[in-house]
Amino acid sequence: MKVLVINCGSSSLKYQILDMSTESLLAKGLVERIGMDGSVLTHQKIGLDEKNVVEATMNDHKEAISQVITVLADPVFGVVKSMADIGAVGHRVVHAGEKYSASVIINEDVIEALEECIELAPLHNPPNLLGIAACREIMPKTPQIAVFDTAFHQTMPPESYMYAIPYEYYEKYSIRRYGFHGTSHKYVADRAAYMLGVSIDDLKIITCHLGNGASVSAIKRGKCIDTSMGFTPLAGLAMGTRSGSVDPAIIQFIAEKEKRSIDGVLEILNKKSGMLGVSGVSSDFRDLEEAVKDGNERAALALQVFAHRVRYYIGAYMAEMNGLDALVFTAGVGENDTGMRDVICAELGNLGIKLDPVKNRVRGREAIISRDDSRVAIMMIPTNEELVIARDTYSLANKKIGLSRGV
Ligand code: ADP
Repeated sequence: MKVLVINCGSSSLKYQILDMSTESLLAKGLVERIGMDGSVLTHQKIGLDEKNVVEATMNDHKEAISQVITVLADPVFGVVKSMADIGAVGHRVVHAGEKYSASVIINEDVIEALEECIELAPLHNPPNLLGIAACREIMPKTPQIAVFDTAFHQTMPPESYMYAIPYEYYEKYSIRRYGFHGTSHKYVADRAAYMLGVSIDDLKIITCHLGNGASVSAIKRGKCIDTSMGFTPLAGLAMGTRSGSVDPAIIQFIAEKEKRSIDGVLEILNKKSGMLGVSGVSSDFRDLEEAVKDGNERAALALQVFAHRVRYYIGAYMAEMNGLDALVFTAGVGENDTGMRDVICAELGNLGIKLDPVKNRVRGREAIISRDDSRVAIMMIPTNEELVIARDTYSLANKKIGLSRGV
């Protein structure tokens, strides 16, 4: 079965199509500027060097998905004969609240539940729902599956997910820690167990998803027991442009001093803080490292703040799990930034975390990068959120097809 994986943003749409008989990627692409002037689709068939760039008016997500399907069936750049060749569609959905702790086949009830979650993820869930609606319209007979960023974290115990605020706000407004990047944390934890040749049920793992958005999770016996993001993806680590956790009283203080609304301050904490805010240079770690080489002290400080926060969570989660077997780095920074991995691990030797500077020079492939005498295995594992989405989609679509055949 060929599975199409869709990740819809407000004006963009990323997709991949995989052949699930071999779990191989056939093609991937990106649509940008949906609903704006200059909409463009960039498509790449795996194995072909040349990319197919389609500049066409795409007024909404439905038109964007129609273009994606056209290019997927293109005689040169395509990988399917027709739309009917797509066995199922998997949608990345950011927030499922407390409703779903696993992926689901989309039906009217699911849509309704996700609409109720819009207020929990006002930036993310609406475009996710637009993508779902467009695919259901264009491919009404194809099973559509939702895979949630929040689902993997639903195993957290109440003491991890409850905020110490009046309980009624949890009851009335569902205010609690949810956590995000769940498919990535799950994927790399499973891979870590596989690489170590140990059942995940016997492992305590900390997964560091360090990208533009960044989060750390504590995974005990395969279940997430804590994670650094919270009610929203603003909490926890310092990130590219996000502050991560701050003293909440700062919000009112900045609002007063800078004459801004609460929304205005949250915008600053989301878009003008983190690495960008501290350094004044960039949100991109590569730019910061270049600036450090030129002697920029604030760029150096930003990177130190980032590493400090990651170490802080590693220590906290080791205490929560009473030990650690594997520390995993993934996502843009975690996979590529050998220097940052080095700085994070530098002061952790007494906790049994000892990085091997030579093995650490790895990029782009899975590797164990700790010294032989390190009690904790330090690992670099490229994430693959699309594969997790495709696997769940494949397995639920098979169930649906089985049920409809009365199997
Ligand atoms: P997201 O999916 O959250 O947008 P990614 O996981 O793709 O983010 O990570 C993107 C970030 O990874 C970039 O902003 C950049 O800072 C960092 N990055 C990518 N390559 C490198 C590299 N070679 N060295 C350092 N940082 C890198």
